[in-house]
Amino acid sequence: MTTLIKNAQILDGTGGPPTKGDIFIKGDRISAIGDLGRQSAERVINAAGMYASPGFIDVNTDSDHYLTLFTNPEQHDFLLQGVTTIFGGLCGASLAPLLYGELLSVRKWAGDTTRVNVDWKTVKEFLAVLERIKLGVNFGTLIGHGTIRRALIGENIRDLTDGELVIFEKLTLDALKDGAFGFSTGLAYAHSKATPVYEIKRLVKTAARKNTIYATHLRDETAGLIASIKETIDVTRDAGVTTIVSHLRPIKGFEAEYEEALAIISRNVDNAKIYFDLYPFDTSHVPIYSFLPERVKLGGFETMLKTLENAVAAEEILREMPERNGEDITIAGASQNNYLVGKSLKSIAEKRGIGANEALLQIMLLTRMRCTVTDRNIDYPTTLKALNNPQSLVSSNSESSAKGEFKLERSTRTFTKFLDLAIRENLMPLPQAIEKITSKPASIFGIRDRGILKEGLKADINIFSADEAQGTTIINVLVNGTLAVFNKNLESVRAGEVLRKT
Ligand SMILES: [Zn+2]
Repeated sequence: MTTLIKNAQILDGTGGPPTKGDIFIKGDRISAIGDLGRQSAERVINAAGMYASPGFIDVNTDSDHYLTLFTNPEQHDFLLQGVTTIFGGLCGASLAPLLYGELLSVRKWAGDTTRVNVDWKTVKEFLAVLERIKLGVNFGTLIGHGTIRRALIGENIRDLTDGELVIFEKLTLDALKDGAFGFSTGLAYAHSKATPVYEIKRLVKTAARKNTIYATHLRDETAGLIASIKETIDVTRDAGVTTIVSHLRPIKGFEAEYEEALAIISRNVDNAKIYFDLYPFDTSHVPIYSFLPERVKLGGFETMLKTLENAVAAEEILREMPERNGEDITIAGASQNNYLVGKSLKSIAEKRGIGANEALLQIMLLTRMRCTVTDRNIDYPTTLKALNNPQSLVSSNSESSAKGEFKLERSTRTFTKFLDLAIRENLMPLPQAIEKITSKPASIFGIRDRGILKEGLKADINIFSADEAQGTTIINVLVNGTLAVFNKNLESVRAGEVLRKT
């Protein structure tokens, strides 16, 4: 198949100003760029008045965690916003390697994991399964510290023995040889929180040996943020690795800590290769139990629910919870109680004639904790500054889900919103914004044949309009030379490739 994109304003991903020209695609690669006036092709796309750019790269997604790689292999929420490559395996949890074929470490996202037939163990086998399924986008994975640690010692919370660490290093090295792009931690989660720094250093050094990256969900993103960032810089320097701090967002009430964290990163960029990712929205998505006081969260769901069922204990919890009116909290997911989805906590509380916190506890009991909410708890002006930081990358930190399901705005609009900010609110020049979501992540992850529009490279290409009045509209998307979105509509092709770090 040959395709000719004509008369586009070409933003090649390197940050330079647009140049007018044509792009000729043969098979899955870009064959020629320039004034190709007399070139013919099987398909010709007139891109006059539109931009052409490399497909966008989302460095932090949850499509593996929610198992939607299997239930929604098209991954259309990404394609429709111009994302052609996504990464999974973040936050300490990946779908491989598995020692016993169990997906315990993604239960907190996916709930019931038995709907996927797990017939792989190694990263190599997992990537082969994805190749058979065929995804709509390119997919690469990191490997999760929590996934392997849990397989090694089960539900225990303790330091690893030296023997276990040696096995861990071997498993990490094997997974990286199989094509994983790096190693991730989820240090805020109960099973990983007490992990000693020396363990992380040893494992991250393994990632550095294979020239792959380290991504970390910090131990603490609020009051303990500074200590967490300092620890991360220490690990980064010690291992000589490239690090991405995952979903580093300014949580309301901790803006000063956040600014200081970014200042520490800036001061260290000369001696530590450190980046961070975030999305351009003011809302986070959390399980409902996260509103309980820390001491109550120590047990599992059943223990928490038992505590709440005790009237005296519940009274005590209510006294400990900070005042809120419930306006910023909306029910996002409650599989057994769908009628709650989309309702604000404030409206639920008013209808029941009770306070917002009391309503929260009632919903926890009603849904047996199987409930997630969105919370408008991120400071937006500080978010905009962070997006402009040279060390920041853009991520949805989200998944593509089936049509008709409740969707977070960041699932469907992270990248078009980011470009809207560039063209409408002068966040940064458009070529620079494109660079941040194409060649920059490609070079950090070590993907050499994507992220730039250049002869010989893979043809992941977006054609879009962008102006101040209308904002950004993705019109056509090519994935590996195949038209995956045409005239804003999804084509039923799955042209993504499974990526391996080489
Ligand atoms: Zn995370």
